[in-house]
Amino acid sequence: MKKYAFGADIGGTTVKLGLFTTEGELLEKWEITTRTGEEFDILQDVADSCRGMMEQKKLGKEEFAGIGIGVPGPVRDDGSVDVCVNLGWGKKQVRDEMEAALGMSVAVGNDANVAALGEMWQGGGKGYENVAMVTLGTGVGGGIIVGGKMISGAHGYGGEIGHMCINTHETEYCNCGKRGCLEQYASATGIVRMAKKALEASEEDSVLRKADSLTAKDVLDAAKFGDAFAVKLTEDFCRRLARGLSFVSCVTDPDIFVIGGGVSKAGSIITETVKKYFDGYVFGSQKDTKFGLATLGNDAGIYGCAKLIIGTEK
Ligand SMILES: [Zn+2]
Repeated sequence: MKKYAFGADIGGTTVKLGLFTTEGELLEKWEITTRTGEEFDILQDVADSCRGMMEQKKLGKEEFAGIGIGVPGPVRDDGSVDVCVNLGWGKKQVRDEMEAALGMSVAVGNDANVAALGEMWQGGGKGYENVAMVTLGTGVGGGIIVGGKMISGAHGYGGEIGHMCINTHETEYCNCGKRGCLEQYASATGIVRMAKKALEASEEDSVLRKADSLTAKDVLDAAKFGDAFAVKLTEDFCRRLARGLSFVSCVTDPDIFVIGGGVSKAGSIITETVKKYFDGYVFGSQKDTKFGLATLGNDAGIYGCAKLIIGTEK
């Protein structure tokens, strides 16, 4: 096996990069600005940056398994994207272009999917081969690993947990254009949306009425302090999330759900409450499914990118 691998997680504003040993140790991490626009070539920037690191560390190309790339959009199994709005890309064969730019093997994946792979490899899902990750941030992201393999599917939409419809009666629209998506309830934005609706519809006293601009953290913190209204909101959000995750369980039956993203900083209140409702939605040995927190934070992407290419050497 080769000794090193690069991981490059390309986001809308920055590219996070990591130099890894193929054993899973992160040796260096750094960032470059994502320069979008006609006159720039993001992949060339990434290739140049990797070459700079190889020179600095006196490493040769032949010592690398290659580079794994994460992009913010659906990615097909052949390493191409149909469109990636955040990066200003239309149809693009990312894998081939990157191979030409850097001269080493390349694997490409969706950013949420590679984060799941990273958490399976060295994070909250370590030790398991069947991992479903759900990222609760501004939106709800997901990544599914089955038998150690990341599932991207026919169109690159595998793992889009946030946009499964869990409520056919919803009247407001999700960012994706549909109504009733899990993201409308279980994201940070969704928690605030539901909290505001509930506060308006009720006269019940709550510390949340005193918050200037209500955040998901306010709701979860108040629940931890026993504010009855916030507890109800938290139970409701966890119940809806659990329902969505029970669908995932019926399809892929993971060993563990790893919960990450900003909202997950609330900790065990989320994993325990979700698990409680989840057990009511599933049957048989599905009730043995574990719930854990993500541990790699913003580095999950670069870990997963590196893991994507490691072991693929011909
Ligand atoms: Zn949606």
